[in-house]
Amino acid sequence: MTKTILKTIKELNEWRLINQRNINFVPTMGNLHPGHEKLIREAKKSKNNLVLLSIFINPLQFNDKKDLINYPRTINKDIDLAFSAGANAIFIPCVDEIFPKNVNKIKYIKASENLSNTLCGIYREGHFDGVCTVVYRLINIVRPEVIFLGEKDWQQLLIIKEMVTKYNLRVAIKSIDTHRDLNGIPFSSRNNLLVKNDREKLKFFSKELFHAKKIFNQTKTISLGKIIKRLKGKDIRVEYLKHVNAFNLKESTSEMNITMLAGAIICGDTRLIDHVFFMKRDPIIAIDGPAGSGKSTVTKLIAKRLNFIFLDTGAMYRALSWYLIKEKINYDNHKDLNSFLSNISIKFKSVEGAKQHVIINNHNVTEKIRSQEISSIVSSIASIKEVREFLVKEQRKIGDNGGIVAEGRDIGSKVFPDAELKIFLTATINERAKRRKDELEAMDHGIVDFEQLKNEIEKRDFDDTNRKISPLIKAEDAIEIISDGYTINQVVDKILEIYFETIPKELHL
Ligand code: C5P
Repeated sequence: MTKTILKTIKELNEWRLINQRNINFVPTMGNLHPGHEKLIREAKKSKNNLVLLSIFINPLQFNDKKDLINYPRTINKDIDLAFSAGANAIFIPCVDEIFPKNVNKIKYIKASENLSNTLCGIYREGHFDGVCTVVYRLINIVRPEVIFLGEKDWQQLLIIKEMVTKYNLRVAIKSIDTHRDLNGIPFSSRNNLLVKNDREKLKFFSKELFHAKKIFNQTKTISLGKIIKRLKGKDIRVEYLKHVNAFNLKESTSEMNITMLAGAIICGDTRLIDHVFFMKRDPIIAIDGPAGSGKSTVTKLIAKRLNFIFLDTGAMYRALSWYLIKEKINYDNHKDLNSFLSNISIKFKSVEGAKQHVIINNHNVTEKIRSQEISSIVSSIASIKEVREFLVKEQRKIGDNGGIVAEGRDIGSKVFPDAELKIFLTATINERAKRRKDELEAMDHGIVDFEQLKNEIEKRDFDDTNRKISPLIKAEDAIEIISDGYTINQVVDKILEIYFETIPKELHL
């Protein structure tokens, strides 16, 4: 394998032109350690792209000039490590190359205020703006397909993700869990600056965080005060220690599921950070969207891949509709409806081939609820307040412990507003009608008229979107996927990719 070192943008462009392959990019500030090595190895595994590592000590992200001067520089060692871990090329530009004197050319980026006005951002003024500016610049220069970043700098990772979304940069971000040494100390370039006594302090700090995690798993609480006291008892200078929501970094509250205990300590002249994540229940994935968007198939497959519960809430509305009709209940009469609902039990029973049977009060209605008769009535029954209240309560009971992928119309907006991942899955009306037609015909519902089906779906979309209570809407924080032209497996893979990039890797270990 050729070992290419590139020093200028011109050389980088020529290299890209010769190779004609997409790039997996690992940006670093050098002084490489096993954490970087892990990033390079992951980059090497992914997509068969070329792996480019950059070494650039970004002056913009040092609020403290002494820190910049002292930042460890070990270029020859770095080159050996990067190539032996599998990098195809190393980009080592000088400051003028990245930030030419002609300042008009440079776009200075402001980091998200919400994400940067806490934790490290408070103590390192302008640091995250400097990080965003250099990453933005490097992405524009390198034009990678994927950029690899460590979860070690979780706040930085969230800020970069936000920037990539905000500026619509065409790059995927892959994150790698924090790599620790045998003492539990996270690898960091700054560790090289520590004397033995400081290493012991850092080890104690990391141990305290993991101990807090153990306590949290048992009691669901942590005492920041006690931890700080113990750290101080070891003569450790704590810059901050905070318990925050892992995604928006706001102060943690009892309702939050995934949270992070993060802190910075000062050893000598060196500032060191570490964190641990807590999770109260397994994650919830909410998949909403209009009729025929492929939600059920996709949800089922995702649940199988993650070993999560699969919840088809549409089937619950359908089953209830079927039973109301069968029992000839006058559902306009609230009293009749309420006494009917108080005796309802809807169960899902897993059967072979990842299928589920839907059972309402001992009636197996799995196939019957897919009939056109039920499809045409279900939306109006689903708009009844009592029906929704009853089913939402049932759905929440099923999802109480998390570990669930639920699909429907109001999962992200109403049933599980705290879901860790919300997807809004949709497709054009023609595509959806075509899928439903194939599905129904495969289920032996006879030949189905395409135009009639299309009209029925359009009407249902209209009713679901325009009803008063919990209408079909894309939750504000949902990610929209338009599935036209994609196979089911491509959609499943995409959602899983987003899921694994949303939940901290460290929680999967
Ligand atoms: O998803 P499916 O087509 O089986 O859903 C049938 C109907 O149930 C929807 O058209 C909608 O009226 C109703 N529904 C709902 N809220 C959900 C799931 C389904 O109102 N969460």
